[in-house]
Amino acid sequence: MNKNNLLLYLMIAGILLGTFCGWFFGREMQAVDWVGEIFLDLLKMLVIPLIISSMIVGISGLGDIRKVGKTGLITLIYFTATTAVSVAIGLLVVNLLEPGAGVSLAGQQVPERVAGKESLGITDILKSFVSPNLVHSMAEMEILPLIIFSLFFGGVLTTLGEKGRPVIAFFDGVNEAVMKIVHLVMYVAPVGVFALIASKLGEAGGGELFFAELMKVGKYALAVVLGLLLHATVALPLILMLVTKRNPLLYLKNASEALTTAFSTASSSATLPVTIECAEERNKVSRKTSLFVLPIGATVNMDGTALYESVAALFIAQMAGISLGFGDQMVVFITATLAAIGAAGIPEAGLVTMVMVLESVGLPLEGIAMLLSIDWFLDRCRTVTNVWGDSIGAAVVDTLEEKFVEGGNRP
Ligand code: ASP
Repeated sequence: MNKNNLLLYLMIAGILLGTFCGWFFGREMQAVDWVGEIFLDLLKMLVIPLIISSMIVGISGLGDIRKVGKTGLITLIYFTATTAVSVAIGLLVVNLLEPGAGVSLAGQQVPERVAGKESLGITDILKSFVSPNLVHSMAEMEILPLIIFSLFFGGVLTTLGEKGRPVIAFFDGVNEAVMKIVHLVMYVAPVGVFALIASKLGEAGGGELFFAELMKVGKYALAVVLGLLLHATVALPLILMLVTKRNPLLYLKNASEALTTAFSTASSSATLPVTIECAEERNKVSRKTSLFVLPIGATVNMDGTALYESVAALFIAQMAGISLGFGDQMVVFITATLAAIGAAGIPEAGLVTMVMVLESVGLPLEGIAMLLSIDWFLDRCRTVTNVWGDSIGAAVVDTLEEKFVEGGNRP
């Protein structure tokens, strides 16, 4: 068995064992919380240097600014189109299943986590694109302003000729070094994912309590998971197959370490180092495309989150007895897409940006209280979908870039 397969099997074993221990030993498993935290922090510490160096190397690899523009446009079209497909699937499933019909919202309060976020709007999302202080953004792990800065920085470096070259070479070296550290960190991944899953399930009170909570909103959870499955196993693989002619199962196998990491960390950003490694080294997506597409994808392309937001919004509407017509559902469609772009790649970010979706069609924020108890679980499912969407995006953009930007002349 080769080394990569072994690591993957160990990671899957880690998730299964973590689920088993968390399920049966409950809160006692919180004792291993710190092990999971260390693994998470090891990944997180790589994210900032990785994002900055990846964007710079990715952009300079794409060539002149015109080519960057074209590749950027292809990436944008892929992100928007797949997010739109996922929201449409979400709306379809939730309208068919009607998980909120007959469930009462009475007695629910606006959860603390989202209180005060009512004024969150589109302008806030736009404002989060730039930051006056990059050091502050790094400290707070605000990724979007760093991406924007690195986009400019990398783009401008390519226009400097002789002077720009050593700077690009420097960031290239930084990138290679960080990727080597990713390799090392992955050696502890099986233990890390075990600890993360076991302690989280333990914190939720173990299997029986989790199951009871799940059953309370069982139909809603089913709608989310079914929607995510349809998107991840039908829509995205179809796009991959049609555009790149790759075998989706093989692509899935090669991306599995990223997906298991996504499931256990519930964070696209923390998973990014692994996502890049899987795309570049296992799935052989060109380095420049992976380095350009994946950091942006981890931050703005969240198919799973968008789908979840649309299902949750309609679930709340159904519980509140508010019927949303086609026009209102179109508003949900657009705001869910924007809310997913605005959500950071961190655990349960989607729960907060959902306020925007609910406000846009006048739905009661109290409804969010109904989603809280199992959100940690659905968050993991949607994060896997988010990372899967990014991974497929890297291959799709790579193929289209070769066709339309390079004109098939890639060296
Ligand atoms: N946890 C998700 C991610 O990192 C975001 C969310 O939906 O809350 O991709």
